[in-house]
Formats: sequence, C-alpha cells, structure tokens
Amino acid sequence: MSGIRQSFTLLVLGGALCLAGCRGEAPLNVVLITLDTTRADRLGCYGNQSIETPSIDRLAAEGTLYERAYTPVPITLPAHVSILTGTYPVYHGVHENSGFYVTDELTTLAEILSERGYDTAAFVGAFPLDSQTGLDQGFDLYDDNYPSSLEEGKHPTLRGFFDERPAAEVVRPALEWLDLQAGEPFFLWTHFFDPHQPQIPPSPFRERYAHDLYDGEIASVDDAIGRLLARLEELALLERTLVVLSADHGEGLGDHGEQTHALLLYSSTVRVPLLVRDPRDLTARRIKTPVATVDILPTILDRLGIEVPAVVQGELLPEREGEGGRRRAIPSETLYGALLHGWSPLGAPDLRRLDADPRSEPQALPPQRRSRRAPRPRRRGARTARSDARAAHPPSARAGAGRRRGRGGIGVARKAGPPRRPRLPREQRPG
Ligand SMILES: [Zn+2]
Repeated sequence: MSGIRQSFTLLVLGGALCLAGCRGEAPLNVVLITLDTTRADRLGCYGNQSIETPSIDRLAAEGTLYERAYTPVPITLPAHVSILTGTYPVYHGVHENSGFYVTDELTTLAEILSERGYDTAAFVGAFPLDSQTGLDQGFDLYDDNYPSSLEEGKHPTLRGFFDERPAAEVVRPALEWLDLQAGEPFFLWTHFFDPHQPQIPPSPFRERYAHDLYDGEIASVDDAIGRLLARLEELALLERTLVVLSADHGEGLGDHGEQTHALLLYSSTVRVPLLVRDPRDLTARRIKTPVATVDILPTILDRLGIEVPAVVQGELLPEREGEGGRRRAIPSETLYGALLHGWSPLGAPDLRRLDADPRSEPQALPPQRRSRRAPRPRRRGARTARSDARAAHPPSARAGAGRRRGRGGIGVARKAGPPRRPRLPREQRPG
C-alpha cells in the first residue's frame, strides 16, 4: 500500500470511528438514585453540619448541586412517576399512592432507554413503588423483593404500606446486577425508603444518631450509596456513568404542624436534593435557578444525545448559573387531603416563592379548579393494589375514609359550608 493510499485509508477509518466516537464514544450508563422522604437541608452538602453524608457530598463535589429543586407532589408514587416520565401529575394522572396506576400509555425513562439497547434494572425499597403500580414499565428487572409484614397464608400479593427493606438490602442485589453488566450501556435505578417513618436506622447509625434518628436513616442510606459508587469504580464504570440523585419529597418534621408529608405544601416537603454527576465534567457547581424533578428525565436524555419526547413537561437542568428559565413557574399539588379526608385539593401555582424563608414563609394554597383531565382508567392490577392497601390498614388508620362519599371528585373543591380550620390527623398514612 502506498503512503498516500495508506493515509487515505486511515483517514476514512478515522472518520468512521469519529461517527461513533465523536458523539461521546460508548453511550453513557445511567444511575438514578432516589431517596425517599429526604429533605435537602438534612444533607451535608446542603449545609447540615450535624450529619455525615460523604458519599452524597462526593457527588456534589464532583457534579452540580441544585439548591432550589422541587417535587411537583409530596407523595411517593406520583412523585416518582413525575421523575420517570418528566411530566406533572395533571398529565400522568397519578395523584396518590393507592387507587392510581401507571398506565401503558405513559412512556417511562426505562422504556425509552430500553428501546435504545440499554439494560434496565430497578431496585425499590418499599411497597408504594411495588410493581403492581405499573412503574415497572421498561425495566428488564424490577426488584421489589422486600419482606411482607403480613401473616403468611393470606393473599399472596397482600402487602402493607410499611413493608420496606433497608438500604443495605436494596444495594446488595443492585451490586450483584452490576457485576453482571459486561455489556453496556445500562440504566440502574435504586430507591431508598429508609428515612420514611418508622425511623429505625441500623447499627451503627442507630447509636451514632440516637439524638436524631431521621438523620441516622439518611446516614445509613449514604453508606449504601458509598458502596454503590465504590463498586462502579471497581468495575471502571463510574467514568462512563451519569449519576443523578434526588428525592421524591421531604418530610415535615414538625414544621407548620406537619410531622410527615403528603398533606401540605411547604418547602419542608416539596424542596428536595438534586445532584448530577456527569463523568465528562467533574467541576463542582451550585446552581440557584429553581428547577423541578420533572427536569430529570429530559436532562438525562439530553446528556445521552437522545431526543426528548414532545410530551415531556420538564426542562433541561441548567449547567451554569443564569441558564434556564428563571421566569418559569414550578407548580405543585397534593390531593391527599381531598382524597383521604374530604378537604379541598391543594395546589401551589409556583413554588419559587418558598425560597425567601423555607421554614417560615406561609404558603398560599388556592383550591384547584376542576381538572380537565380525568384520572386514567386503571387496569385490574390497580384495583388489587388499592384493595390490598386498604386491607393492610385498619379502619382506624384510615382517618377520614368515611367521608369519601362527600367529595365531588378529584380536582373539585368543596362547595358546602364555611372553610374549616384544617386539623392534622393523628396518623397519616405513609406516602
Ligand atoms: Zn416517598
């Protein structure tokens, strides 16, 4: 081969390789970590001086931290549906943990990536995200193998809302799955339920955080995340993996009279952590532009070079301060009080107002108008999930259930009588 011809061949070959390589070489893997019931202000990287979260802090030190990230709904299932579809509840139609189903008409992140050749796996920590909800769409493996708290011999799918497994038991099978990922790319989602009530962190976190078991649960989750990141490094995968960490909602912890979440809309429950570690740029950044968890899906797709579906309502997370839509409104809702207690539905048209004083600023909660979009029809599995959930809760735990007949429907404000001063129930179902 002559020198000129050899050079030409190398040029053509180089050009062919560039078509694949210049777009990022091998596609990035994706690891999505969702923390249940985790307030941003309880993490070390968000300013909590009394907790050790070195693994989460590492993601912040090597990626972008969003200081003002919000969930569109402070309830586990609908919040996760928003994350995995990039849409608000008014679109995806899932407003509560029970009685709603993720229909086949919705397209999840797992489905999009699976269609593009990704191996997909989810490891969830608790019943609200059980495969019965339909959230398993697109996952080759959907591991919801947490122990049932109910007696043996009953309906085989009967599970209780408190059924969960600790972070260590979520990450253990996830690591085993990672070990088998010889052929990339992959999409791995891990969900950690631990900070949710009841807060019983494992040792040594139970002892170390005896003064604050909520922080202890978060610290135990951080430990599991550390194992996940370590395994990714051992397998030389972290350098080819986009890691996104967020939460479905926060926790009241007594702020505004709310101990848990789901009932009210304050920053204690709607502000969440959001971190993005892109291996192609490990510069630490902190961005104050308000963002929402519906932005996670389009951002992941954009980073992978995949076109964002037109139905997606989220926007691309800004990569620099000043980018993005500062004028953009970020709405939030909760129909928990309406569905469970006959209250008016609560909606916040724009959560950005919460930023001035996240702990004390009152939130105006105008009632929602009638929803233009009726809840989507549920499949048989949804009825099973709902009936199971109701069976798992004795009537005394379902405060307000007897007033269900009085409500007009989803998205309909109460009409009769003067406004009543809301009273928090003694017990709230976990959400
Ligand atoms: Zn949750």
